Amino acid sequence: MTHFLKIFLTSLSDLFYPRHCEGCQRALLEEEFLCYDCWEQLEPLPEPCCEICSYPLFCADSKTCSNCAERRLHFVAGVGAFRYQGLTQELLARYKYGRDQSLRPLLQQLITRALQDERLHGIDFAAVVPVPLHSLRQREREFNQVLPLAKEVARHKKLPLRSLLKRVAPTSFQAGSNREKRLKNLEGAFALRRPTSLNGNYLLVDDVLTTGATLDECAKVLLQAGAENVWAVTLAR
Ligand SMILES: [Zn+2]
Ligand SMILES: [Zn+2]
Repeated sequence: MTHFLKIFLTSLSDLFYPRHCEGCQRALLEEEFLCYDCWEQLEPLPEPCCEICSYPLFCADSKTCSNCAERRLHFVAGVGAFRYQGLTQELLARYKYGRDQSLRPLLQQLITRALQDERLHGIDFAAVVPVPLHSLRQREREFNQVLPLAKEVARHKKLPLRSLLKRVAPTSFQAGSNREKRLKNLEGAFALRRPTSLNGNYLLVDDVLTTGATLDECAKVLLQAGAENVWAVTLAR
């Protein structure tokens, strides 16, 4: 089929088969990715939440969660756009493991919500840095799902995107292992792609913030290379 015929047929099918909601497949009349009901299902981070790791707090007495009170993380704050549950979790799983690339524009739109968080206001960033996948895992999934998210953050903030980091040790499968093990697994798991001396502030991007261990290790490497301070944004927390 010629290229032009293909474009013609695609636009023809768009005319007769309008967009569908990525959440519930309902037909949509407008140029949206989600229907109203599905938008309502996405839960933004609650107030108050831990000012460092964005974990929901149940009272406003303290500014940090009990985890962050006991540890010293290498990033200033990790900001998630939405809670990692329900529809958000489902969409991310479909994107990561089901290779559902049609979700990419929606997820790119969702992560930019994190940029509205006031913890990121007024900070001059030198660049946006995606959290890398290990090459082995990258081959399994064929693409680094974080890269399109990081590209969108960089575009939105009008900042350069710099893939500064690489994984150096394969991290064993994390699901199910306890927190302590997970933290140990990640020690020394990241390095600079090539020797670079950095200055200024950097904004890391990952899909999900759970324990914060991955972002912590990445931030540590950037600080050791001379970065002044590191913040992070993720689609889900
Ligand atoms: Zn829907
Ligand atoms: Zn915390």
